[in-house]
Amino acid sequence: MQKFVINKNQQSNGDHEIHNATTGCVFMPNPENQINLGYHNSCKEAVSYAKKQYSDSRINGCYYCCRACHTS
Ligand SMILES: [Zn+2]
Repeated sequence: MQKFVINKNQQSNGDHEIHNATTGCVFMPNPENQINLGYHNSCKEAVSYAKKQYSDSRINGCYYCCRACHTS
């Protein structure tokens, strides 16, 4: 299981990016801008979990630490 967080702030394209807090990421948002998503088996699970929690938001995996889940 790995820990994932989502950025409270949108990227310039409107996406809220998910980062892997277990492996870490050079683009990890500042702690005050992170929302903890808890532990998941994969970034895909973290993305689907986040989409349920924040159904009004555009959600995407980070290109650098969640590349398998990066779509736009
Ligand atoms: Zn990342």
